[in-house]
Amino acid sequence: MLDEQDKTYIDVPSSWNRHPIKNSHTGNGYASYRLTFKLPNDGDFALKIPRISTAYKLWVNDTLIASAGNVGESIETATPQTFSQVVFFEGHQGENELLIQVANFHHRSGGLVDRIELGSVKQVSRLEFERLAKGFALFGALVCLGVYHFILFFFRREGNSSALYFGLFCLLIGARILLSGNGYLYVFFPEMNWEIAQKILTLTYYISVPLALMFFQSIFPRYFKNKWINVSKIMAVIFSLSVILTPTRIFTVIRIGYQIWSILVILYVLFIFMKILIHREKNSWLIGGGMAALLISSMNDILFFTPWINDNSQAFFKSIIVGGNLTPIGLFIFALANSLVIGKRFASALKKEEETSEELIQVNANLDEIVRERTEELLQIREKIEQQNLELERKNEILQQFSFSDYLIGIGNRRKYNLMIDSEWSRCLHEQTSMALLIIDIDDFKGFNDYYGHQEGDKCLIKVGKTLQKNLLREMDMLMRYGGEEFVIIMTEVSQEVAMESALNLKQKIEELSIPHATSKVNRFVTVSIGGSVIIPSVDSSYHELFKKADKALYQVKNSGRNQVRFL
Ligand code: GH3
Ligand code: MG
Ligand code: MG
Repeated sequence: MLDEQDKTYIDVPSSWNRHPIKNSHTGNGYASYRLTFKLPNDGDFALKIPRISTAYKLWVNDTLIASAGNVGESIETATPQTFSQVVFFEGHQGENELLIQVANFHHRSGGLVDRIELGSVKQVSRLEFERLAKGFALFGALVCLGVYHFILFFFRREGNSSALYFGLFCLLIGARILLSGNGYLYVFFPEMNWEIAQKILTLTYYISVPLALMFFQSIFPRYFKNKWINVSKIMAVIFSLSVILTPTRIFTVIRIGYQIWSILVILYVLFIFMKILIHREKNSWLIGGGMAALLISSMNDILFFTPWINDNSQAFFKSIIVGGNLTPIGLFIFALANSLVIGKRFASALKKEEETSEELIQVNANLDEIVRERTEELLQIREKIEQQNLELERKNEILQQFSFSDYLIGIGNRRKYNLMIDSEWSRCLHEQTSMALLIIDIDDFKGFNDYYGHQEGDKCLIKVGKTLQKNLLREMDMLMRYGGEEFVIIMTEVSQEVAMESALNLKQKIEELSIPHATSKVNRFVTVSIGGSVIIPSVDSSYHELFKKADKALYQVKNSGRNQVRFL
């Protein structure tokens, strides 16, 4: 029991920290609150007892009807527990007495920090039922939203971090509802450790600040700077460490710093959102509206839980602050707005996909036709190319023939001779077989040309060439026009006798053509002189020697009367 002089009055609700009798900045201590109140009649009544910082025992008319934690005189003997509950008692008509023993050694603010409500059993039960129903409905809705957005993220991770952050945010706030002042969780777990519950509650608050920023950044990446997001993460980590490492009565003091920081973050977000609204970004009104609801409600709650309000019982502020539990409702409005945005995004993505697949179906339907047309075109092109190729080949052949054949007579020309002599020489050298070369020159042809004219000369050349060609001894013998009125014949695997026989025969055949040659010093008709040579090629000989010898033989024939054959 207290001494007479320790008895005094105190405003409820408020913490006892600043009370003159206490005069201490810590909330540690213990006290008894006594209140007499009048009831209209005898009967059953109910009390709604809020969270009381941080342990109490409550009597009405000397009957103990409620308690939480363990009321003690020191930190060793007191155990904390805070949750709200409804209790019933038998009241009398007229004066009744309410006595509450409160002890606090665990929280920064001690005492009756929230108001006690008195009413009929029906009234209070109804209020309590409403409170529980609202709380669990909100909790359920937030968990559903959270899980739903996790699923969205799970199935489409790329570019969908907003769904992840948002899902996490919903779950965090859901957890806050269970753990916060009204203590829904105590309905199921009355023995829950008070310290741990306080820590988790505070951590959910700390983490939600950078998470909210990250969510906004994922929706409006151009507006929210990484620098501030990183600072907010660091702040959250530092303050979270204080929660993990210190007891509630200490980290609740440090928490004021984070509350100030939160207000700065809110101002920053408001500033950025002004910009976003001014730029009329897509969905900015929707998110802006949801955010306004969240900001107003969370400001309300931050102020409500501020020790300054608890300690100084600011009547004005208390009157505009609507209890300490608005954040979930604000968040729910915010969540709905954001779900709408995310839903709209998905819908437009789906629509795009549908349009694309519709296009694809049409393209597919036309594909056969397109392929047929293209194939036809390709076939036509191929045919054209083949024709052009054939034409080219033909022209090439003609060109080649031209380049190796004599334009006048149609037999091999000097180039053909160069080619053939070279390859035949190599073959004969390799096989060590003989090779004969005949050089045939029309006698006195200059005179023929002069007398009969160039045209007649050509005709004569053609006749002589064709006759030589027709009368080659063997099919393998090769006749070429060496130049002017000179022809050469390459014969391989041949003896001098056979070559000589062939040459004599050819000379005879030309003479037998009986082409008149009026100015010939040799004969009345066109005749030829033939020089020849036969050799078996060796490594140190060359076909130039063979040619020189045949040419020399021809020279000798020319000098000794023409119209003869000579071999050297
Ligand atoms: P030789 O008996 O010493 O061989 O006397 P030649 O007059 O036949 O010899 P030369 O080499 O002095 O003259 C060759 C002549 O052949 C010169 C030219 O008028 C004639 N000739 C050369 N090529 C052609 C040709 O393609 N057509 C015609 N019509 N005449 C040609
Ligand atoms: Mg000549
Ligand atoms: Mg001649």
